[in-house]
Amino acid sequence: MARTDATVLGAGIVGTSIALQLAKRGMSVALIDRGPIGEETSYGNSGAIEGSTTYPPAFPSSLTALMRVAFKQASDANYHVSFLPQVAPWLLKFRAASRADRILETARLNRPLFARAIPEHETLALESGAARYIRKNGWIKLYRSAQGFAALQPELNLAREFGLPFEVLDPEGARVLEPSLNPVFKHAVFWPNVVSLSNPLAVTRAYAARFSALGGVTLKGDARSLHRSGHGWRVDTEQGPLDTSEAIVALGPWAPDLLEPLGIKLPFGFKRGYHRHYKTESSAPLSRPVIDVAAGYLITPMEQGIRLTTGAEFAARDAAPTPVQFDRLMPRLNELYRLGERADDKTWLGARPCFPDSRPVIGRAPGQKGLWLAVGHAHWGLTLGPVTGRLLGEMMAGELPFCDPTPYAAERFL
Ligand SMILES: Cc1cc2nc3c(=O)[nH]c(=O)nc-3n(C[C@H](O)[C@H](O)[C@H](O)COP(=O)(O)OP(=O)(O)OC[C@H]3O[C@@H](n4cnc5c(N)ncnc54)[C@H](O)[C@@H]3O)c2cc1C
Repeated sequence: MARTDATVLGAGIVGTSIALQLAKRGMSVALIDRGPIGEETSYGNSGAIEGSTTYPPAFPSSLTALMRVAFKQASDANYHVSFLPQVAPWLLKFRAASRADRILETARLNRPLFARAIPEHETLALESGAARYIRKNGWIKLYRSAQGFAALQPELNLAREFGLPFEVLDPEGARVLEPSLNPVFKHAVFWPNVVSLSNPLAVTRAYAARFSALGGVTLKGDARSLHRSGHGWRVDTEQGPLDTSEAIVALGPWAPDLLEPLGIKLPFGFKRGYHRHYKTESSAPLSRPVIDVAAGYLITPMEQGIRLTTGAEFAARDAAPTPVQFDRLMPRLNELYRLGERADDKTWLGARPCFPDSRPVIGRAPGQKGLWLAVGHAHWGLTLGPVTGRLLGEMMAGELPFCDPTPYAAERFL
């Protein structure tokens, strides 16, 4: 019978970063996944490490915007009609958390995590030999209407207060940075402190390799086999049962599959998202992520080509893919930027696990001694993986946490 101090369940960027942070603190650690490391949500994302993010995405604030979503004309959001009764309570909570005062509160409460996101990644990337995947040239957000840009002002004011650098550009200014963008937008904001990855999967794999080099053990197994054993926990792996004093749930969108049978019901919602890759036209290079805000998509250069990612789709986590947002956004994308041919033949689908208040849960699991949670990272799991690992590592090791963990406690939902 094998035994560890800590066992991390889920080897995405969040779980892998936690395992690495715990191993760095001298604990014996196992990292368990049912599949290969980093190949789920942590692979398919847009690759942005959003050090400058303040406001979370919000429920549509105007009736026009809501109607566009309702009548399935919006490219930034889609939904399955059959899923509406199930998701309605979550949407109501999300709408309540989207009030101006609540959004501001969320931005302030999440700030300590975002402020440390890039340095924590940089430290792990340097140690893991993954620095070559990190691009430090910011991202650009485009606004097609004066109204859309005006709505941004409170967010810019908060960025000023936080000391976050940004540059408001006209189309020509934006084209100095990205000459292949057509000037179909009115305003742009360049955020130089955003970092992006050319290969998110390679980064998670590199962090996992560093974890192994420090003596960490990676095993295959089903996290749902976790159960009480003596004073700790036991989980079944392909290499046999493993006993552990502390278990950490980092299962991304699959966290409820383990937590609900244990009686831990958290208000998870899932914003599904898709990606496709395109070849880069030699006459249209792109050097950083670009977001077309109103149309709700992002394009970014990756090793596989240009990755195009979509906004939110509200549907059951495991429902069949319905990538209709591509049909809605392609006309707008085609007028902005010249994509090459498709570089893949499959559309990737993933799910962002989101709480209505857009804050993750990082800390102890209520009512379950020795169980810890690192879940609900929403749009920012790639950004926040390493800093989540640091915070949880400090809490578990009894060190002084670098920030107050109370805003991320699961108890806020009880
Ligand atoms: C389209 C899209 C774009 C995004 N863009 C960005 C971005 O630019 N920046 C950013 O910061 N974030 C982004 N995100 C969000 C980010 O990708 C996620 O928040 C992050 O990857 C979550 O990491 P994770 O480790 O929690 O989950 P995952 O990467 O999903 O890892 C969970 C792991 O748990 C394993 N698992 C599940 N069930 C079991 C089980 N029963 N037993 C064992 N193992 C199990 C899975 O195999 C998986 O490896 C995006 C998400 C999407 C969908």
